[in-house]
Amino acid sequence: MLCWNVYDDLPKWLGNRASFPVAVHCPLRAAFPPFICSIAVILILKTGATDEQVDHVIERVEALGLQAHLSRGTYRTILGIIGDEDKIPEDSLRAIPGVAQVIPVLPPYKLASLEAHPQRSVVDVSGIKIGGGFLGMIAGPCSVEEPERMDRIARLTRAAGANLFRGGAYKPRTSPYAFQGLGVDGLKILRDVGQKYGMPVVTEVTDPRNVEVVSEYADMLQVGARNMQNFVLLTEVGRSARPVLLKRGMSATIQDLLMSAEYILSQGNANVVLCERGVKSFDPSTRNLFDVAAVPLLAGLTHLPVIVDPSHATGRPDLIPPCALAGLAAGADGVHIEVHDQPEVAKSDGPQALLPEQYAELAERMRKMAELLGKTISPPNPEAVA
Ligand code: PEP
Ligand code: MN
Repeated sequence: MLCWNVYDDLPKWLGNRASFPVAVHCPLRAAFPPFICSIAVILILKTGATDEQVDHVIERVEALGLQAHLSRGTYRTILGIIGDEDKIPEDSLRAIPGVAQVIPVLPPYKLASLEAHPQRSVVDVSGIKIGGGFLGMIAGPCSVEEPERMDRIARLTRAAGANLFRGGAYKPRTSPYAFQGLGVDGLKILRDVGQKYGMPVVTEVTDPRNVEVVSEYADMLQVGARNMQNFVLLTEVGRSARPVLLKRGMSATIQDLLMSAEYILSQGNANVVLCERGVKSFDPSTRNLFDVAAVPLLAGLTHLPVIVDPSHATGRPDLIPPCALAGLAAGADGVHIEVHDQPEVAKSDGPQALLPEQYAELAERMRKMAELLGKTISPPNPEAVA
């Protein structure tokens, strides 16, 4: 229930309508009629602000080169700030004595926001579409391993219905003593197997210095959970021509994730797919806590496709199938699943890998779910060896 009366000054607000709708995320939106307005930031002044204090705030706002429009309510005084929303110094406004709250009308992730780009993005990964009704079915082992094994897993996952093949050649490991990945040799194995089966490949890049070499071999660059806020890496993949799979950090908020996507978009790379892969929780029953609500939540905030990774989200093969289906039911644009033919000898994440036959069974259920939802799974290149 809003207790101040912004409608006192409605003619003034209406007189300053301009270029964009009041943002959906703005908690004050209910206070404003849904007209188009140019107010970029709303200042709420401290309760009981005197006329002199209000004049002083306006003076300071104007000194920052902005316009202020006053609305004096019964309980609260608010100022609508007009100016170029990219350049409004929010912290300077926050520091003006008498200002209680500064609320931007537009979200800070302008390029990623649905408001700025109401049409949903479809990301094309070398012919496989993700988003806009197309599902990306990413499958493969956690790490790139020996060529024969990679060949076998690719053949079986492709036959089951996967359309993108994955495997990490650079592994961000908690322990410096754990397997770190095969590096460039791994990239070559992944690319060769992917080409043989007509499956574009997804692999993680952990270091800005490797973006160039990984882009040479991979069709899609993965930025992993541990690097979601590695801003140098985000900037570098933003300059690459390859689509990016951006995984949610294990303690990242939805806004953090969108701000990281913004880094990539701001460098000119428009092909970003977000991935919900679980967040840290207090409960060791699962590896992470699968935040399925993030999928429809993100869909309301961004035009970027969103996929789910129930493998890392749960860490448990018994929970992966129901969580994959839940992700699709919640509107995910794809599913990322780790598959290994001998989990006990896997170089990483063996305990959470699905066997190829388990993946095939799940893929059949996902195919039926896709049909039910009216979604399409682009097939791998039919001319490649099956
Ligand atoms: C992975 O995909 O193997 C991986 C390391 O994922 P995450 O970054 O989500 O932990
Ligand atoms: Mn893994």
